[in-house]
Amino acid sequence: MLLLIPGPVQTRPDVRAAMAVDIAPWDNDFKARYAAIRDTVRDIAGGVAGEHACLPLQGAGHFITEAAIRTFVPAGRKLLVVMNGSYAERMARLAREAGREVVALAVPDFRSVTPGEVADALAADPAIGHVGVVYSETGSGIVNDVVALGAAVRAAGRRMIVDAVSAFGALPFDLKAQPEVDAVVFTSNKCIEGLPGIAFAVSPIARVLECAGNAGSWSFDLSDVYATAMKAGWGSFRFTPPVQALHAFGVALDIFQKEGGQPARLARYRENARLLHEGVQALGMRPYLDWAHQGPIIVTVHQPADPAFTLLDFVERLKKHGVLISNFHNTPVPSLRIGCIGDVHADDIRFALCAIGTVLDEMGVARRQAA
Ligand SMILES: *Cc1c(COP(=O)(O)O)cnc(C)c1O
Repeated sequence: MLLLIPGPVQTRPDVRAAMAVDIAPWDNDFKARYAAIRDTVRDIAGGVAGEHACLPLQGAGHFITEAAIRTFVPAGRKLLVVMNGSYAERMARLAREAGREVVALAVPDFRSVTPGEVADALAADPAIGHVGVVYSETGSGIVNDVVALGAAVRAAGRRMIVDAVSAFGALPFDLKAQPEVDAVVFTSNKCIEGLPGIAFAVSPIARVLECAGNAGSWSFDLSDVYATAMKAGWGSFRFTPPVQALHAFGVALDIFQKEGGQPARLARYRENARLLHEGVQALGMRPYLDWAHQGPIIVTVHQPADPAFTLLDFVERLKKHGVLISNFHNTPVPSLRIGCIGDVHADDIRFALCAIGTVLDEMGVARRQAA
């Protein structure tokens, strides 16, 4: 099966094979491997040894986003969330339920937010201490410019939390050049092409120390993750980790570096996105985003207006041709989502486009433009 979803992504056989071992997390060999993974992750984020720390947390992306909010935004304080997609809505919910006050900056989900919009929102409310932004919005496929936004946040003397879950490893990020960032967060199972199970934040150590006591939760306290590393070493855990997923993530990181790191991954995904964006148009469908706003992670397409089209039927039929895409959509209007990330190459995309054309014919979908 060719998995064209924005995570958990299609992985290489070597990565999956690394899961098939028993490992004791506290074994010295594994501790050394885990410590090395943390250093590598910090380096990929543009972190500097001694200044920035990689702070992993068991579980999904929502968990690390919640942990970053709880750790860096004090209880009762305000977080401006740039609302241009479904993952931003999720960030806002995580913050509200953690007792942080959310100020929503509404932006349509078919374009990036501008630095001016963020600067204006910050100027309008001096009580806002943090900005939360989704780097690559996996709802629609847009990308927010975290460098330009960061400059606006820095100029306003505020702090930023970046949900880079679907961006990290593909889109560039340089923590040392963005001192306003408290945390950049991501998971094992997206652009690094590992398996699900573990999430990561990379943060400035000085801020982690300053923020000790904010979290109001032991499980979600990144300061405590740091304190444990100080006490017991960078290879240590507070609670049982998904050791096999971590081990496989290490293999995925090795492959990532060998492929040429972030620039190579971005180039491959961008080509996948370009082929998809052009290919669906050649089949008569309309992409949700203009190419100028199209990111390299996911291509969203308007569902065809033809009454013969239903998403679930389409997805099930496509699966019979060996291609799996999401069976739900995250845009305000009906769409379908095709992932560009994972161990997916240009030939895979060409194969998928052929299958999509065949299935639309099979279903008798003649009117393929948006409703
Ligand atoms: C996938 C994703 C997440 C996290 O999803 P989980 O299911 O919690 O791992 C968060 N933000 C973005 C932008 C994502 O693409």
